[in-house]
Amino acid sequence: MIEFKYHKSPIKNNVFVEQNEKCPVCDKYSIYSYVGPMYSYDDVEYICPICISNGRAAKKYNAEFVDDEFLDKKIKKEYLDTLLHKTPGVFFPGQELWPSHCNDFCQFESAIKFIDDKYINENENEISRLAALNEMTVAFFVSEVNKDYSPFWCLEFKCLHCNSIFLVADYE
Ligand SMILES: [Zn+2]
Ligand SMILES: [Zn+2]
Repeated sequence: MIEFKYHKSPIKNNVFVEQNEKCPVCDKYSIYSYVGPMYSYDDVEYICPICISNGRAAKKYNAEFVDDEFLDKKIKKEYLDTLLHKTPGVFFPGQELWPSHCNDFCQFESAIKFIDDKYINENENEISRLAALNEMTVAFFVSEVNKDYSPFWCLEFKCLHCNSIFLVADYE
């Protein structure tokens, strides 16, 4: 699988499915097909990872795979282009707030399904910030994330330069 700067494990995160479909951009069969978010007037299915990574799919359909509304507008144009047009998107709960840090966008790691004490200790500031933002205590925040099939999602991003962790959390 091709690597994406801003999305570490798009297969694990279910935005590519293993389905052996024909890509509508390059007309080649691909083991993996894109089923993640896409902002375009065309209704397109089964784009292959290569046509996302080289920007051909975004160009062909005038599409973005990440919502640009809340992005940090001070980040370099080249990085913005990579995130919007060459990165498989992420399903967000609530508003799509892709974090940035150290003058670059962060890399999406995965959805956090379980927060243990070690994780709380390591990410105390970020968890406190998110809990406050959602008007929750830290204990309630953690219990909401840790519920089975929880409607309260917590997404983990990492700064590619200083390794700081940033969380996005909201009800779906
Ligand atoms: Zn393709
Ligand atoms: Zn950083």
